[in-house]
Amino acid sequence: MKQKKRGAILVLSGPSGAGKSTIINAAGKEIGEYYFSISTTTRAPRAGEVHGKDYFFVSKESFEEDIKAGNFLEYAQVHGNYYGTSLKPVKEALKEGKLVIFDIDVQGHRLVRAKMGDITTSAFITPPTLKELKIRLNDRSTDEDAVIAKRIENAKEEICAIGEYDFMIVNHLIEEAAKEFVTIAKAARLKRSKEEAARFIQNWLNEE
Ligand code: 5GP
Repeated sequence: MKQKKRGAILVLSGPSGAGKSTIINAAGKEIGEYYFSISTTTRAPRAGEVHGKDYFFVSKESFEEDIKAGNFLEYAQVHGNYYGTSLKPVKEALKEGKLVIFDIDVQGHRLVRAKMGDITTSAFITPPTLKELKIRLNDRSTDEDAVIAKRIENAKEEICAIGEYDFMIVNHLIEEAAKEFVTIAKAARLKRSKEEAARFIQNWLNEE
């Protein structure tokens, strides 16, 4: 019995500075074909960030029009800016049977779980301690002090949501964290929706 190609979602959350994008890049080749969902945001680009690669950078007005038009799978306000996931490309990638990876905050994770929990796996990525997070954010020096302070306050709240995630990756060493991420991504691909399980049972029973 041939299985239909199926898509799956892997949500990654964690404080800015936890190393999410570095981990995804380090694991990239090992996890096979995937679609990374590029979010839309109203925050200003950081030095080196590219429109259409890191984010789609838009105005508040444009973002609010998209909300009204129902174009987002989920959106949230983080650190005083809007961030959102566009529905259309995600739907298309899932239809093609791809693993769709989101880098979204805890509010976004809750919404994706509520809407697509059946095919969703999630992991929270964090530096080992608050002290380490502060060092990393300061070393990155892409943000002003006030912005860093806001991110740290946000991280203190977000860390309390770890229990809502399937997995936790403590990023001591990037190589180790990337290995754990590969295992999680492979497991995420194997997740079966209830609908799929029901179909399988039907076929299983029918083919004596
Ligand atoms: P940053 O400004 O550091 O790129 O991202 C700040 C936070 O916004 C991170 O926690 C990141 O995961 C989250 N974020 C990025 N894109 C989205 C999105 O589309 N939706 C939600 N809910 N959060 C997002």
